Amino acid sequence: MTSGSDASDLTLDETTRIARDLIRMDTTNYGEGRSNGETEAAEYVEACLRDLGLEPELIDAAPGRTSVVARVAGANPEKPALVVHGHLDVVPADPANWSVDPFGGEIKDGLLWGRGAVDMKNMDAMILASLREILGSGRRPERDLVIAMFSDEENGGVFGSHHLVTERPELFAGATEAISEVGGYSITFGGRRSYLLQTSEKALVWIKLVATGRAAHGSRYVQDNAVTRLSEAVAAIGRTEWPVRLTDTTEQLLREIATILGTTPERLGPDELALATGTASGFIQASLRTTSNPTLLQAGYKHNVIPDRAEALVDIRTLPGEEDAVLARVAEIVGEDIEIVVMHRDIGLETPFSGPLVDAVVETLGRHDPGAPVLPYMLSGGTDNKALSLLGITGYGFAPLRLPEHLDFPAMFHGVDERVPLDALGFGKQVLTDLLLDY
Ligand SMILES: [Zn+2]
Repeated sequence: MTSGSDASDLTLDETTRIARDLIRMDTTNYGEGRSNGETEAAEYVEACLRDLGLEPELIDAAPGRTSVVARVAGANPEKPALVVHGHLDVVPADPANWSVDPFGGEIKDGLLWGRGAVDMKNMDAMILASLREILGSGRRPERDLVIAMFSDEENGGVFGSHHLVTERPELFAGATEAISEVGGYSITFGGRRSYLLQTSEKALVWIKLVATGRAAHGSRYVQDNAVTRLSEAVAAIGRTEWPVRLTDTTEQLLREIATILGTTPERLGPDELALATGTASGFIQASLRTTSNPTLLQAGYKHNVIPDRAEALVDIRTLPGEEDAVLARVAEIVGEDIEIVVMHRDIGLETPFSGPLVDAVVETLGRHDPGAPVLPYMLSGGTDNKALSLLGITGYGFAPLRLPEHLDFPAMFHGVDERVPLDALGFGKQVLTDLLLDY
């Protein structure tokens, strides 16, 4: 289906309309506490939920940093509640790099374009449209649902999920499991389509490296230059090749990939198997090892002044449980002249690829896309499931999307020209609806 950017509301499927409305609200999260805020989007979600007869609550962790939570009564109150959550913020988008207005919510070539189309206003919309389908037809989900749309996910959830888990844990009372973003989408390799269910997340350690020295005239003969020392440390960290180490999740994933390819993990190594999945390797390769990427540099104020201080931010993602060991290794790599400041850290997660929720996901996907296998995987990034885990809630990444073979989906996350096929949104809403009705 192709429609113009002026497609009227009437011709739009409800999931698409909600996702487009949300994309048009610029909820950019710049990090370090700077943000455009999520209040407008939270109030939009609140109105949608209220329309369905629910009683949503808006929670401000700070001015403009609004999350919204509502409870939906299930048909079977004996069962523990399920948290179905999304986040309302997005990462920045530089319009100069995009081929469309990142906050225009344009529809072209059968896709919805814009910041958040994939991460994750798509799933926010699928959740709301599913609820409307279920409650609007007089039905109820099988179990109680806690619908949560968080602020600040893109900066570690300090003003979102972590705030709510700490300050308002009663909102999640009775919940044991959660589903949310970055899983449930299809990948195609070895001539067949399969789905990745996210059952594990890496830990994150965001550090700042600081080199200090003596300020001096740029014409001086100086051997102790903060910029030079910091640069050496940054290069060493950036070039570090962390060893491959498989966890239960990645070992199982690689075995399943090998089976689809008609080979074995003994014949093809971890990286080769990951690369054989095509674009999905963008997610999988980073889950096989720790990564440490320098992301920001700051030093100096004038061409002819040697500054007394140089700083770099490094984004480290470790396998679950390896945070301290990796930090110790980083200290060795950068040397004792460089100060390491831990700016933010959060735990990793790993859940077995088994149990009733996994079975229900596999069964529901099987009904909508018969014969397509479902594989477990570890997310190299993090989600609000980390915060929910502090309440004993087991989180999965399940935002179902049946995607065309050649769409580089992993590259869409925080990338330019973020976009999602309209029919994938429709598919996702239907799968989610069935899962919520049955599980
Ligand atoms: Zn996200």
